[in-house]
Amino acid sequence: MFMNSALETLRRDFGGDIIEPGAAEYASASGSVLVSGSPAYVLRPRSVADVQAGVRFAAGAGLVLSVRGGGHGFPGFGTNDGGVVIDLRGLASVEVVDKDRHRVRIGGGATWGQVAAALAPHGLAISSGDTKSVGVGGLTLTGGIGWKVRKYGLALDNVVDAEVVTASGEVVRASAERNPELFWAIRGGGGNFGVVTAFDFVAHPTTDVFYGKITFPASEAAGVLAGWADYLRTAPAELTSIANLANPFAGGPEAPVEIHVAFDGDDPDLAAQALDPIRRLGTVLDDDVALTPYVDTLVDGMTPPPGIQLVTRSGFVDKESVPEVLQILTEVGAAERSPIISIRSVGGAVSQVPDDATAYAHRRAELMFVTTIAGPKPVVEAAGPGLEAIWGRLAPHVSGAYANFLASATDDDVAAVYPTWTYERLAAVKRRYDPGNLFARNHNVRPEVLLS
Ligand SMILES: Cc1cc2nc3c(=O)[nH]c(=O)nc-3n(C[C@H](O)[C@H](O)[C@H](O)COP(=O)(O)OP(=O)(O)OC[C@H]3O[C@@H](n4cnc5c(N)ncnc54)[C@H](O)[C@@H]3O)c2cc1C
Repeated sequence: MFMNSALETLRRDFGGDIIEPGAAEYASASGSVLVSGSPAYVLRPRSVADVQAGVRFAAGAGLVLSVRGGGHGFPGFGTNDGGVVIDLRGLASVEVVDKDRHRVRIGGGATWGQVAAALAPHGLAISSGDTKSVGVGGLTLTGGIGWKVRKYGLALDNVVDAEVVTASGEVVRASAERNPELFWAIRGGGGNFGVVTAFDFVAHPTTDVFYGKITFPASEAAGVLAGWADYLRTAPAELTSIANLANPFAGGPEAPVEIHVAFDGDDPDLAAQALDPIRRLGTVLDDDVALTPYVDTLVDGMTPPPGIQLVTRSGFVDKESVPEVLQILTEVGAAERSPIISIRSVGGAVSQVPDDATAYAHRRAELMFVTTIAGPKPVVEAAGPGLEAIWGRLAPHVSGAYANFLASATDDDVAAVYPTWTYERLAAVKRRYDPGNLFARNHNVRPEVLLS
């Protein structure tokens, strides 16, 4: 009865598409990119008022609510079984609202490929990620480690304002001036506080950039990685880099060490000065670094075939633990059936932001690394004990986890993402904006007061 009246209200107030099981688009609309789902309703809003109606419907009907941005979240929070999905793909506009101050308004359902393409004609770009189809929403609300991270910080460091539909269906603004605690919380606290229907970012003037990869033999991994991490401590902030090991498509344990680089500038001499110390780290097997339009540094995301699972786990590494972690990862990468290992440089502008300025709590880390196992369920399950053993070795040297590369959301995961003081401050914001925990499909901050 209650459900019927909530549904009637939704059908009256909602101006977008309502996709239900049996509809032609349901098969493609029901899952997120990495995880399948069977929601009762997929709502595709066309306006902020539609988002309000969708939130009120889910709350009124007592249904589980997922918010889908780009749908690339590893745990599959962008869908559910039997509940409501608010799929924001229709809110994907990208508008330069202040040319002089490079201020850009972006719909909460845009992808980074849409953003890069829209900003390129203006000579602008935003520090974001490395993949076109990843959503602005999910990536930004939890961090955003992309090709400009050492110069301009995380994606969330470049947000100056946001429009949020809270659990009551109200629209509020969050900025340094308006609702500053909410503004603090949405920069690191994920989708816990509402649906972000629009972000205002400050973009940066962007030229073509020097982008590509330099590879070294697997046998030189230990020295290359140690030298790479040492060098990045003092390298120009224009240089951002990712090191990949054990690429299964390039030989697994025999695969060359790939040092991916982006130098944010088009001056060949400055780029050479920044990149040559990397070239001197070992025997260069291949070097395809070339001047590239920034928009082309973003790659197409891959949708895994049905039945393939991805187990992604991440950790941050502070300066004093870098040698131990790199040593362990080198040994792991050299063994048969290693997970894919990817190590990202952070530091730079990320570490210049005060610890308590945003809810992202890992400012001191020099590196963030990810292990990934991919395969059908039995393969992934069989790899589980080996993965646990690897993470058992790493545990004493790792400080916290990056929620954007975390396929699980256990209590331990949530504690690794949000240290205690961050969690308690987030919980206070949660009590104010979502006391009933409607927005629970995320690394969840529960509103109740913890008894310690
Ligand atoms: C191929 C690939 C490449 C990646 N590359 C990078 C990278 O270079 N750098 C990096 O930092 N991360 C990267 N990631 C990780 C990525 O940031 C996360 O997976 C992120 O959660 C994806 O966001 P999404 O909006 O696409 O996903 P979704 O699954 O739609 O959302 C993820 C979470 O955010 C919430 N959410 C999304 N949009 C909103 C919104 N507008 N309002 C409120 N809540 C919202 C969802 O409810 C969910 O809890 C990559 C992931 C993949 C799969």
